[in-house]
Order: sequence, then C-alpha cells, then structure tokens
Amino acid sequence: MRDTSALPATLRTEVRPIDPHRLGPLIGAERLEALLQTATDVRRRLGARRIVNVNSTATGGGVAEMLATLLGYARGVGIEAEWLVIEGGPEFFEVTKRVHNGLYGSPGDGGQLGPRERAIYERTAVANIQAIRAEIRPGDVVIVHDPQPAGLIGPLIEHGASVVWRCHVGYDGMNEWTERAWAFIRPYVESAQGHVFSRELFAPTWIERSRMRAIPPSIDPFTPKNTELEPAEVEGLLGAAGLLAVDHQPTRPRVTRRAEIIREGGPPESNVPLVIQVSRWDRMKDMVGVLEGFVAHVDSPAHLVLAGPAVMGVSDDPEGEEVWDETCAAWSRLPLVARSRVDLAAIPMADPVENALVVNALQRHASVVVQKSLAEGFGLTVAEAMWKSRPVVASAVGGIVDQVLDGETGLLVQDPHDLAALGAAVQRLLDDPEEAARLARNARDHIAEHFLGDRHLLQYAELLTELLRAD
Ligand code: UDP
Repeated sequence: MRDTSALPATLRTEVRPIDPHRLGPLIGAERLEALLQTATDVRRRLGARRIVNVNSTATGGGVAEMLATLLGYARGVGIEAEWLVIEGGPEFFEVTKRVHNGLYGSPGDGGQLGPRERAIYERTAVANIQAIRAEIRPGDVVIVHDPQPAGLIGPLIEHGASVVWRCHVGYDGMNEWTERAWAFIRPYVESAQGHVFSRELFAPTWIERSRMRAIPPSIDPFTPKNTELEPAEVEGLLGAAGLLAVDHQPTRPRVTRRAEIIREGGPPESNVPLVIQVSRWDRMKDMVGVLEGFVAHVDSPAHLVLAGPAVMGVSDDPEGEEVWDETCAAWSRLPLVARSRVDLAAIPMADPVENALVVNALQRHASVVVQKSLAEGFGLTVAEAMWKSRPVVASAVGGIVDQVLDGETGLLVQDPHDLAALGAAVQRLLDDPEEAARLARNARDHIAEHFLGDRHLLQYAELLTELLRAD
C-alpha cells in the first residue's frame, strides 16, 4: 500500500446553496428569467457531470469571495458545484506569489523562477493530485483558479476531466516580469480546454483565442460584505471594531473582535470625513502610496483609514506581513500631525462574517473610497464601494477602468504613481459633495447593470455550453 501520510488533507470547502430569486428585486423579472432558463439548460447539458472549482484559499481575497457566492447560486439552481482547496507549504506560496506578482508586471520579492522553483511548484502539485483526483470524476468540468493549482491541469485532463483555467490576475502590457511569469506557468496552463481572463488584454498571445473568454468578476449584494446596513448599525460595527468613536455600543454586537489599529490618539469621531482604502497587504495595492499622497495632498479634517486583513489570516499570501510592516514603518516616519490623521487597521479574519461586516461598514461610512492599485485584475473593492453608492478615486489600471468611467462613475488617476493627482481627486470629492453624490449614484447603476452575479453566471454558462458541445 502507498504511504499517504505525506499527502495533504485536501480541503473540500462547504458551498451553501443560494436561491437566485433573491436577485429578482435588483435585476428585474427579465434578467431573472434569463438566468433561470439558462440554469435549466446547463443542468440538462451537464447530466451527471459536476462543476468542480479548485483554488488555494477558502478565505481572504477576491477569488474566495466570489466562489462562495457563484457556487452558491449554482447549487441553488440544482447544479452540482464543488469547491476544493489545494494545500501547499510556505516555499510553494513564495514561488506562486512571485508568479502572481510577475503576472501583474512586478518583480515581487526579486527572487528567481528557475529550476529550483519549478521543482517546488511541481512537488506541491504532485502532493495534491491524489486527494484532488479522488474528488473528481471523469467528465466533470474543473475550473482551476489562478497559478497556484495550475500544476494539476495536466493530470486532471488525463483523469478525464474537462479543465478550464481561470486567471484572475493580469497586466495591461508586457514587461520582463510578465514574460518570466508566463514562461513559468505556460507549460501547465496551455493545455486547458478553456481559458478565462478578467479582460481580453490580459491573455498572452499564445492562448488559443477560440477557447478564450473575457469574463469580468461580479459582486453579490446579499453577502455580509455588501448587505444593506442602517447608518446607526454602521457606526455600531465600526465602534465595536475600534475604528470609530461612538457614544454607545449595541446591546447585541455583531462584531466582537477589535481590529489591530496603529494610530495616534483615539479613533476618529463619526462626523470626520473618512477616506479609506481596503485591500490585502500587497505591494500592488500601494498602501504606502495612498498614505503619502493623502498626508501631502489632502487637507484636514479628512482622516485616512488603510484597512486590510489581519496578516496571518490569508494563508496563500506570504508577503502580507512584510507589507503590513512596511506600511507601519512609513506611518512611523510621518511627523506627528500627519500621523494623527492616518489609522492603519488589521481586521481579524478569524470570523469571515465579522470581517466582511466591518469592511462593509467602513465602505458605507467612507466619504471617499480609494483604490490606488499599481496593477489590478479587476478590483472587487471598487465594485463593492460603487454598489454602496460611494464616490471612488482609483488608478486607471486593469479591470478598474471597466468600472470607473472617469467623471461619470468615479474619478480615475491616470498614472498610478502620481500622488498629487490622487490627492487632488480625493480633495475634489471632499470639497464638492454634490458632484461626489452624482458620481456615486451613477456608480451604483453601473454596477447593477454590469457586475452582478446573473451576468457572470450567464457568461460561465455560455462557456460551459461550448465546452460540453466540444466533448
Ligand atoms: N477584503 C476583505 N477583508 C479585508 C480586506 C479585503 O474581505 O480585510 C476583501 C475585499 O472586500 C474584496 C477582496 O477582499 O472583496 C479583495 O478583492 P480585490 O479584487 O479587490 O483584490 P484581490 O485581493 O483579489 O487582489
């Protein structure tokens, strides 16, 4: 008998069915009907086959966020949708983070992507394959998300699955880092029967165009991240997390864990205009740039909150702690007056619902939401803020430009490194509440039209239909 002790306990993540009818009041009868009709077609086409998703984390970051919802809706219409999470050690995630950064056009930690890294990467694929294969039947459609589990694509095709590689990251151009990362990942992903990118521009030239689709992500209005909250509740949640000064605490708080906060003095009062950026602690999100742009170019009394997950919470993100430390160091270097206008908050991940409610409340309370990414696949945080009718200032990179139409649904900063332009855009919105409100209203309509789950599911349905027809 084979010794299986070294194999990882591949994690089957629970998917809770969600009834898509709840989208009805937001998308209208016609869109709902189209969704239900398509679901019936897909179910019939699939027969006994299942849709199995494979990624590398069940919590933290946009992919996990979206899978929970989309697979929930799929289950809600009777489609067998599964979610498996591969396991890997720190060395593996160091390598995949380098690939991930490379696909964003960045050197990341500056380390190699040579034979040693390839060996580490392949060892993890091999260590996961047996447990993953045990969960997948020949004929199943497997959607493999991002570079981390891509080493499983070949073995899964051999196993008889139809495999789609869904890449959530991307860069608007090419540079030495994208070239290097694509060269590393190409041998694993090229053979997939379908490829999905958030934008067509993200696909390298060797991806077979006839099997490629551009499918942008979506948000779900009913998750704790996006659900409606009354203003009093927003304040209560932020007070409980330690992010806002509040007079009284709710008797039955939905949030019990305080964020770890780096600040000078007490929390901001509720009438102080808040400018926020919520992101993972990732260099691509340039938290330090937001901090520097804010203190140099935005006037008092606005206060900045930079918030992200408590760094130990995101298992596939080894750089989180470093970037948190770098942001804290940049904060420490500020003069006292500037320091007292900026809070850094690490929001606990122990309870994903609590974490989501705090992010939701922060986004709702903000006067301006910033997303100053240097590169971005899509930027769910942008869609989340826009859905909440918040005015957004974001850099004109990646999928952000599909969401923020400059001067219409928010403000874009063309050069993501231009701190003065960032500050000026934020100041403009703080100084002109009417203009901010107009952009915010348009923002909500834009998300309702283009970035809710029904559009996303219909595009996946088209892809599946084609894939199954080709079988
Ligand atoms: N997020 C969160 N808690 C945090 C920070 C971020 O739940 O403390 C969420 C955020 O609300 C969004 C996702 O993580 O839903 C990040 O997705 P995005 O596309 O913006 O960036 P990614 O992390 O995928 O690069």
